[in-house]
Amino acid sequence: MRLLVIEDEHRIAQALKEGLEQESYAVDVCHDGEDGYNTASADEYDLIILDVMLPGMDGIEVCRKLRAEGNHTPILMLTAKDQNHDIVHGLDAGADDYLPKPFSFEVLLARVRALMRRPNESIGEILKVGELTLNTNTHEVKRSGQSIKLSSKEYSLLEYMLRNKGQVLSKNNIMSHVWDFDANILPNTVEVFVAYVRAKVDKPFKDAELIQTVRGFGYKIGENS
Ligand code: CA
Repeated sequence: MRLLVIEDEHRIAQALKEGLEQESYAVDVCHDGEDGYNTASADEYDLIILDVMLPGMDGIEVCRKLRAEGNHTPILMLTAKDQNHDIVHGLDAGADDYLPKPFSFEVLLARVRALMRRPNESIGEILKVGELTLNTNTHEVKRSGQSIKLSSKEYSLLEYMLRNKGQVLSKNNIMSHVWDFDANILPNTVEVFVAYVRAKVDKPFKDAELIQTVRGFGYKIGENS
């Protein structure tokens, strides 16, 4: 899943990027409101972490403009401590949740996970297809009770496919939700990573293959071909 962090304090922005990348998210960073707004409207993100106090266009304005143009990406707003008017204005402008600074990274992660579940209430912390399960809290992946060890990118790819199970995903869809802006990847890279995931998730098991190639379109994860 791919996140955009809009935060002018470089130290906090960098810490968020590194911490979130360790959790297998792809992360892009913008340091001012204008750039953040342009990036958020130009690309497909799964979640935006948006600081309220930004030079130029502030976080509230960024949020309002995105919502006004029909962008429904979940937004977690970072507010200054005890600034109730920021919280009220932020939520009124269309933010989904807020977190006062300073915050604990653990709490931020929990909020991120909760917001990612929200678009589809039926999605719990465990994503499942057939006998394959992925726990979005612990990052454990299992098939038929057997643990599967995935690299960070493999995990991220599988998570994205499971969140969209049954749907055909193009290589472009996959690239824009699994890799960040700076990653120099080609459609071919997607093929390579799908092959890695298949080798671990499908190949060792006798049951039907879960990851299917839809020729000319992309890939799909599901129980029947
Ligand atoms: Ca700030």
